[in-house]
Amino acid sequence: MTEASLSALVPDREILEDTIRSTYDFIVCGGGSAGCVVARRLAENPEVSVLLLEAGGSDRVPSIIDSTQWMWNIGTERDWGYKAQPSPTVNGRTPLLPMGKVLGGGSSVNGSVWARGHKHDFDFWAKEAGDDGWNYESVLGIYRRIEKWNGTPDAHRRGSDGILNILQPEDPIPLVEGLIKGAEAIGIPFVDDINGAAMEGEGGCGLPNVLVQDGNQRVSMAATYIHPFMGRPNLHILLCAEIVGLKFSGKRATGVTFVRRGRTYTVGADKEIILSMGAINTPKLLMLSGIGDQKELKRHGIDVRQHLPGVGKNFQDHILLAGCCWEYITPEPPRNNAAEFVFIAKSDSSLPTPDLMPVLEETPFGSEVTAKQYDLPVGPASAWTLAPGLARPDSRGEILLNSSNPLDAPLIFANFLSAESDMKAMLRCVEMCREIGNSDFCAPYRLRECMPGDLKGADMENFIRNAAGTYFHESCSAKMGRDEMSVVDGSLKVYGIDGLRIADASIMPAISTGNTMAPTVIIGERAGEILKAAYAI
Ligand SMILES: Cc1cc2nc3c(=O)[nH]c(=O)nc-3n(C[C@H](O)[C@H](O)[C@H](O)COP(=O)(O)OP(=O)(O)OC[C@H]3O[C@@H](n4cnc5c(N)ncnc54)[C@H](O)[C@@H]3O)c2cc1C
Repeated sequence: MTEASLSALVPDREILEDTIRSTYDFIVCGGGSAGCVVARRLAENPEVSVLLLEAGGSDRVPSIIDSTQWMWNIGTERDWGYKAQPSPTVNGRTPLLPMGKVLGGGSSVNGSVWARGHKHDFDFWAKEAGDDGWNYESVLGIYRRIEKWNGTPDAHRRGSDGILNILQPEDPIPLVEGLIKGAEAIGIPFVDDINGAAMEGEGGCGLPNVLVQDGNQRVSMAATYIHPFMGRPNLHILLCAEIVGLKFSGKRATGVTFVRRGRTYTVGADKEIILSMGAINTPKLLMLSGIGDQKELKRHGIDVRQHLPGVGKNFQDHILLAGCCWEYITPEPPRNNAAEFVFIAKSDSSLPTPDLMPVLEETPFGSEVTAKQYDLPVGPASAWTLAPGLARPDSRGEILLNSSNPLDAPLIFANFLSAESDMKAMLRCVEMCREIGNSDFCAPYRLRECMPGDLKGADMENFIRNAAGTYFHESCSAKMGRDEMSVVDGSLKVYGIDGLRIADASIMPAISTGNTMAPTVIIGERAGEILKAAYAI
């Protein structure tokens, strides 16, 4: 990224501390994939005052702007640095759970894949919420409105003049053609648009959709929804502002407390507070504020404001294996987002909807255990990995407080592979990835299979437990629904509390099929629609 292209970006226009007002109409907590969308939609009305608080800093960083560098943000100050608690289901390991800590949140540090979810996902959300506003037909309307899809036109499903520039990676590495043919040979059809009709049926294989423009420039939710609105007098944006508590008057949320550069501030919300801090920090703040399972709250001496046993429960992530890996004959540097091939398929043809979503990683990719066990080649261009992944895991995790100190990381029990059905699906997924990678179609790109090889029975299961980790899709930990474990209703209101809604990946009743940013943007858009209607703004 050159200085010239950097300076062409909209400059940061966060407000100065002495201009913070004592109250706003709305406070949006967390400027990530959903928070940027909600703040923008509310601020579109110049009569409405909005404060957007974000714990991370500016997104004007080369490793964010250049979407091909996404993985270099992991482990930096732009990542919350979370880790799962040790679990026997992954042989006692503690997989990393990276989450973006910067304006734009995950959308600023992610792999730029735009995966819209399956029809079944949204129809299930609508059923759980008891609200057709969440069903596939309604959600298609939002996608058509916000997308600027540059691929094969599909007027019913895809938008062409929205604000999000969406492409298929151009000029992918030649291996992608081999993988497509290998997948077709085992019955997974190539589809021209992996977000089109395939996501109403059996899935397919092909290139992902990616959010980029002008070469590899990232199209994040901060860049699209917020940068053009910076400097508007009714939208105040404060970076490096870590929210540590909510204020209440009885059962009504009235304000937010945050810490910035060592100073503590409290700001009021005349209308509502929207939590968009992601699937780990949203349930954490709820619990710190006395909203959660009363047993868990009492354990930390927190007064119970509202007993909601579902807070922090139902945690989900697509489980990804690091992975099935082959050494190149001729080294090939990664291109585009370094993940130019995906397939969505069923592990068992009797399933109603696809449950597998492996992805190509154009590098050697091992876990901290498998990378040592196997002789993986060195250097990003030396090998490629077809990483098996689950689209509809049955394993459920939970998030608990470590203490009542808001600055302490919570305890995250990811429980990957705790459901037997997930191991069964993963075994089939590894088999399919190996069939594709070892097919004649991939022979021109394959010197040898590095990992896992033809393991059987317990040995293969052990490999899977050593290789399993996050797909970076933490979600579902404050689910929308109508049963006693639900945290929000169909209009995203927290049960039992006034003036408080949640709009982020934590409200998904079940994780979507495919990467989670696009459905989270839909959640942000729905929140905008719902709030605009509720307040006639
Ligand atoms: C490395 C990585 C790669 C990924 N790749 C893809 C991909 O290619 N495609 C895809 O679809 N998805 C991908 N994802 C997932 C996707 O980015 C997330 O699902 C999505 O961003 C979730 O949106 P969210 O709004 O729920 O939370 P986030 O986007 O995580 O936003 C939450 C925001 O709240 C802020 N926040 C949290 N706590 C506080 C606090 N106490 N005070 C103030 N602010 C706070 C955070 O800093 C963050 O900015 C990836 C994620 C990561 C981390």
